[in-house]
Amino acid sequence: MTIIEALTDLQEVDGRIRELEVELKDLPRRKAQEMARLSGVSADLAAAKANEEYAAGRVKNLENDAQALKNKVAELKKTQMGLKTNKEYQDFSIQIDMVNHDLETTENNQLAAMDEIPSAKARVEDAQKKYDSAKGGVDQFCAEIDERMAAVNAELAEAQKERVEKVKNVCDPKFLLYYERLRTKRWPVVVPLTHDGVCDGCHLVQPPSVGQLADANARNGEQGKPQSIVACTMCGRMLYRAL
Ligand SMILES: [Zn+2]
Repeated sequence: MTIIEALTDLQEVDGRIRELEVELKDLPRRKAQEMARLSGVSADLAAAKANEEYAAGRVKNLENDAQALKNKVAELKKTQMGLKTNKEYQDFSIQIDMVNHDLETTENNQLAAMDEIPSAKARVEDAQKKYDSAKGGVDQFCAEIDERMAAVNAELAEAQKERVEKVKNVCDPKFLLYYERLRTKRWPVVVPLTHDGVCDGCHLVQPPSVGQLADANARNGEQGKPQSIVACTMCGRMLYRAL
């Protein structure tokens, strides 16, 4: 195995590791998105419930108001019975009329408030249904994400183990160091030099000397002789060319 073959082997594993790492970063983000969507649906349900409570409370308050006014009328009528003069009696009649008028308004408001109840209830039921359905979907989605996370972590651990072996095959530390330095900045690191002398990484045409070096490298590799690092003059990627 030539050093370039050993490096492209290592690069293949590193490519898989990179993809797995990207997925590992992306999975929690997708989960968070789904959870955020659910919390929106949950907020709708909470708002519908608060609205229903408010509507019920309003009916109850108006009922209490009406009862208080009825009590007041009864009290006024009782006092009126004991009055001595016509003038006092008439004054009370006016007061009773006024309270009765308030009572009528309050009872009308109460009826109107009761009309709001069914639609408030329907809104809660509707929001509850939407929440239940969204919750079911999100729970399933999150379970699938967790499952995938576990699988990706396992694959990653496997690939890391494989990497350790592949690194051992790169017998020249100079090549390995060059590869390791470049792989966080340029990907892929080891790329072919085309027969037209173009770097397959950045597509810059290389000077003829680079092509000559790459070809000499290939010959040396075939003969089991040491190879040198041939780098792109633009991006620095390691170049190789088959004879
Ligand atoms: Zn290049």
